Amino acid sequence: MVMELMSFQKLFQMTKVINSQFELSEILQVFVDAIAGEITQADLVGFFLKQPDGTFKGYKGNKLPVDITELLIDPKEDEFVRDILRNQSSDYISDTSIDLRLDQSKRQLLKIKSILGIPVIVDNEVFGLVFVHDFGKPMNITPEQMEVTEAFVNMASVAIRNIRMFEQRQLLMEKQQLLLDATKALSESLSVKDVLNTFFYYMRKASGSKDIGIHLYNEKEHTIEPYQLSSENVTMDEWKVKHREVKLTIENDRLLYEVITEKKAAAIEDVYADPRPNHKAFVSFDIKSIMVFPLVAKGSVYGVVAIPSIGKQRKYEASILEFCQSISDATATALSNAQHTETLDHSVHERSIELQQANFKLEGLVRELEHLNELKSDFIATLSHELRTPITAVKGSVDILGKGILGDLNDSQKDLLDIAAKSIDRLLDQVNELLDFAKMENGKFELLYTEADFNEIVKESVHIVQSLINKKKLILVVETEVDKDTVVRVDKQRILQILLNLLSNAIKFTPPLGVITIKTKFEDSLLTVEVQDNGIGIPFEKQKNIFTKFYQANNQINGTGLGLAISKQLIELHGGRIWFESSEGQGSAFKFTLPIGKE
Ligand code: ADP
Repeated sequence: MVMELMSFQKLFQMTKVINSQFELSEILQVFVDAIAGEITQADLVGFFLKQPDGTFKGYKGNKLPVDITELLIDPKEDEFVRDILRNQSSDYISDTSIDLRLDQSKRQLLKIKSILGIPVIVDNEVFGLVFVHDFGKPMNITPEQMEVTEAFVNMASVAIRNIRMFEQRQLLMEKQQLLLDATKALSESLSVKDVLNTFFYYMRKASGSKDIGIHLYNEKEHTIEPYQLSSENVTMDEWKVKHREVKLTIENDRLLYEVITEKKAAAIEDVYADPRPNHKAFVSFDIKSIMVFPLVAKGSVYGVVAIPSIGKQRKYEASILEFCQSISDATATALSNAQHTETLDHSVHERSIELQQANFKLEGLVRELEHLNELKSDFIATLSHELRTPITAVKGSVDILGKGILGDLNDSQKDLLDIAAKSIDRLLDQVNELLDFAKMENGKFELLYTEADFNEIVKESVHIVQSLINKKKLILVVETEVDKDTVVRVDKQRILQILLNLLSNAIKFTPPLGVITIKTKFEDSLLTVEVQDNGIGIPFEKQKNIFTKFYQANNQINGTGLGLAISKQLIELHGGRIWFESSEGQGSAFKFTLPIGKE
C-alpha cells in the first residue's frame, strides 16, 4: 500500500515537533492531536498511561469534551484490552453490537460503535494504550489511516524512550553530583558535630525521609544504642527513652544482626510481614517500613543508620538503597575519624594538665633540693673552716716537737712524729679540698689573678712532689716547649694546685720504676699542659665518671674523689678545658689548656 504524500508530510512534521520537545505530556499531546488529525471521523482520541497496579489511567485526550483523566480502564473488566495486551498489537472493533469484548459500561457511557486500540510499547513493555472511537456513529477507518496511525505510535514510543533515558541520566547525574557534594562536605567537616550535620543534610536529600537515626553498636555487649537523631516526629529524648525500654541487641533483632555481621544494607517494605526485625520496637515507634545501613570503618561495623517510614508503608527502589548506602559509607570514615581526633584531643588535653601539675610539683622539689644543697655546702664550708684551725694548731705543735725544740727525741719518737706530721698534712689537704668544693658549689669561689712565670710554677710543683717520686723510685721527665721567662696571668696558687693534683694522681696510680712525663707547650695564646704516666690506667667503663665529684675508679683508700672535679672547675674558671686518654694497664695522660691573656 502506498502512503499518500499528505501523510508523509504529517509524519515529517510530527518528527520535528517530537524532537524539539522534552516533556512527556507535550509529546503525548502532539501525538494524540496527530492521530485525531489523521482519523478525522473519530470522536475521541485518548492516551491511557499504565499504572503500577496494571490499570490504565486517562492522560491525554482530544476532541470530545470529556475529562479523560477521570477515566480508568481495568483490563480485568475489558476483554478487548486484555487481547491487545496479550498480543501486544492493535485491534479494531468495527461494530460493538456484534463484537462484545468491550467493557459494556464504558461502551454505553461513551456510546461507542467502533473502536481502535493501539498499544504503545516502550522497551518491550506496554507503556500505555491509545483508543480511537466514535460517539454513536461508526468510524469506518481506512487501511491507510490505520497504517499512518501505527507509524505515529512507533514514533511516539521512540520519543518516550528517549525522554525516559534522558530523565534517568539526568537523575543519575543529579545523584552523582549530590554524592560528590556530600563527600566534599564530609571531608571538610572536622568535628563530630560538623560531620553529623553534613550527614543528616545529605541523607535527608538522598533518602527523601526526615527521620534518620544513627545508632552505635557495642561489640562487647551486642547492644545497639541510640546516638544521634534527625526527626520531625520524635525528639531526641523520646527516642532515647523508647530505646531504653526496648533495648535492642543483635540477638533480639535479626535484621540488625544481618546488617552488622554481613555489613550489608537492608530495606523492608512491610516490617510486620518480615520475621527478622524486632516487631515490639517497631510498634513502639510506629514504624511500617525501614531501610538500615551499616557504618563501617577500618573493616568493622561500629554503628547503623536507620531510616524508617513512620505511620505509612514505603516501597524502596534499589537505586535509593544504593544511593543512601554511598552516603553512609562516606560518613562512616569521616565520623570515626572525627570521633577519634576528639578523644585524642581530649586525652592530650588531660595529659598536659597532668604534666603541668607534675611539673609544678617537680619545680617545688627542685627548689627544695637546691635549698638542701645550699645547706649542705654551707655545712661543709663551715665544718672544714672550723676544722682547719685546730688542725693547723696540731700541725704547729707536731712541727715544734719534731724539730726537738722542746727537748731531744729518740728515734722511735721521731718516727712517730714524722708519721703524725704526714697524716696532718694529708688531713689539711683534704679539708682544704672540701672547703674549695663547698665554695665552688655555692658560687662563692673566686680566682686571684697575678702575673707569674709559668715555668716556675711547673718547677715548684715538681719540687713539691720530688720526695714522693724518689721514694717510689719513679722517673719524672719534664719536656717544656714554653719559652723561658714566659709570664702568664693566672691564679698561680690554683694552677699549682691543679698540677699537684694531676701529679699526685700519677704518682699514686703508677707502680715503682714507672715513668711520669710533664709536657708543656705555648701556642696561639693557648697553654697546653700534659701529665702522662705509664701506671694502672682507668678501665674504659669508668672513664665517663672520672670528673664526677666524690668518684673513685680504683677502690683506693687515699683521697676524697674531689681532686679532678675541683681541677676541672678551676680550669674552666680560667676559661680552659681538661680531658684525658687512658687505657687499663697502660697508663693515663691528663691534658688541659689555659687561654692566656684573658681574664
Ligand atoms: P682522688 O682524690 O680519689 O684521687 P680524683 O678526683 O683526683 O680523686 O681522681 C678520681 C679517680 O680517678 C681516682 O680515684 C682514680 O681512680 C682515677 N684516676 C685519676 N688519675 C688517675 C691516673 N693518673 N691513673 C689512674 N687512675 C686515675
